[in-house]
Amino acid sequence: MVRPRYTLPGDLAPASLGDRRRFYQRGMDYSSAREWMSSPPGERVYALILGRHSGIYPRRFRHLKNVPLVIDDVLDVRDLRPYLVKYLPEGVYYDRNIYASLAAARKAHVDYAHAWRSRLFLGQELAFDLDPENVDCPIHGDVVAKMRRHQGLSFCDWEFEEVRRQAAVLYDELSRRWTDLRIVYSGRGFHVHVFDEEAFRLTRKQRGRIAARYAHRYAIDEWVTSGEMRLIRLPYSLHGMVSRTVVPVPRPDLEKFRYDDPRAVPRL
Ligand SMILES: [Zn+2]
Repeated sequence: MVRPRYTLPGDLAPASLGDRRRFYQRGMDYSSAREWMSSPPGERVYALILGRHSGIYPRRFRHLKNVPLVIDDVLDVRDLRPYLVKYLPEGVYYDRNIYASLAAARKAHVDYAHAWRSRLFLGQELAFDLDPENVDCPIHGDVVAKMRRHQGLSFCDWEFEEVRRQAAVLYDELSRRWTDLRIVYSGRGFHVHVFDEEAFRLTRKQRGRIAARYAHRYAIDEWVTSGEMRLIRLPYSLHGMVSRTVVPVPRPDLEKFRYDDPRAVPRL
């Protein structure tokens, strides 16, 4: 069966370097991002992706365009601003690991990818990443068909509405066990974050079991929930592939939330 090619719905399109500069100089709500990162106590690592997916990046940083640029000396999100204005990344992420002290972690040469046994490691935020490419679309096919056509980053309205529906069901299901849940519109799909203290202390084995259980029924990225993939988009940053602000969405607003919601459309 020949599936139609597709790109992005509505007016979604990659942000130019000028758009990114305007956003990170004047458009970003750094205070709300700081608030998001303020709990639980501990220090976090940030990472920037300059141009891996969009192919748009400042020419002088072409040697860095595909690799996560790790920032481990920023304790207040507002201090990320000079980095964002300098590197103009297509995506801004934080590592869900939490450390007692990044200064001590740097000194001890802690490998952030294998930090679980470090005495400086305090825990990891539990998160679920729902992406439209993981949805089986009646028009565009499943993730395998989409990847074969190199369209893993495209999505359609049907896929968006399906991941939104799944995010609502997943949130409600998780609410039976956890109490402090937050939904974030990620630019393409949705993230569900668990902020309960107990969730930060889950072992890798427990996370693996949770990931396997939910991946069975939801279009989630299993590697995010299991903790193998630790990076997640920073709320209030810009998703450079679609020119949308990553924003928390209160559960009552979710059913009607669309990617053209005023909260998600940056003034560029
Ligand atoms: Zn589709």
